[in-house]
Amino acid sequence: MKLTVIGKYGPYAKSGNHAASCYLVSGKNTNLVLDMGPGSMSRLTDKIDIEDITAIFISHLHYDHTSDLLAFRYRLEELDRKVKIYSIEQDTPWFHILFDHPLIEHIPVKSGESVNAGEFRLSFYEMKHTEACLAVRIEGEKTLVYTGDTVYNDNILQAVRGADLLLSDTSKPLGFKGPHMNIGNAREFNEKTGIRVISTHLSPGYDPAPEFENYPGIEVAEEGKTYEI
Ligand SMILES: [Zn+2]
Repeated sequence: MKLTVIGKYGPYAKSGNHAASCYLVSGKNTNLVLDMGPGSMSRLTDKIDIEDITAIFISHLHYDHTSDLLAFRYRLEELDRKVKIYSIEQDTPWFHILFDHPLIEHIPVKSGESVNAGEFRLSFYEMKHTEACLAVRIEGEKTLVYTGDTVYNDNILQAVRGADLLLSDTSKPLGFKGPHMNIGNAREFNEKTGIRVISTHLSPGYDPAPEFENYPGIEVAEEGKTYEI
């Protein structure tokens, strides 16, 4: 089971060949995309043919996690191919712009539910953000948890029980006041549970890497890199 970081920035990508939130989780014959922020579509096609995407999970509906879904639909139209997208259901204009399309099979999911997506079992956990957000626990040969965007909450500890890797919104500096976690949270998850942590959702102007120098179990997400879970 592998994780490829397609885009790691939020709320917008750093200049150059970068993208906002998008990750690819691959098993033997399943490819699950997590979020699709601006810039991710072209970078995703460096790594996978769109035809080979099994399903997409959207953690929440902020633009930096969703906006390339619109360009993605043009590709679906070219291929005349349907894709399943799992997310929270919302009756908002943006929700309908994103998902009301004949080639998108939107599957509403809630905290506490589990579904099968190809060879993976996905389970959802409510997070705390300025927009309704779900973390996803992905169980295949290994287990990965992706937090989406959130401040610290105990559901994360529930989600990571026995997991192999935590991909988390933990890249803000200590003392950061906002709807995201900071580097201290990444250290805490690693120390408390022993889980390997990949810190992501980077601000374009702040590199947290020096803060993790003495923490071999924590890495800062690297775009284009594939991690063996
Ligand atoms: Zn967000």
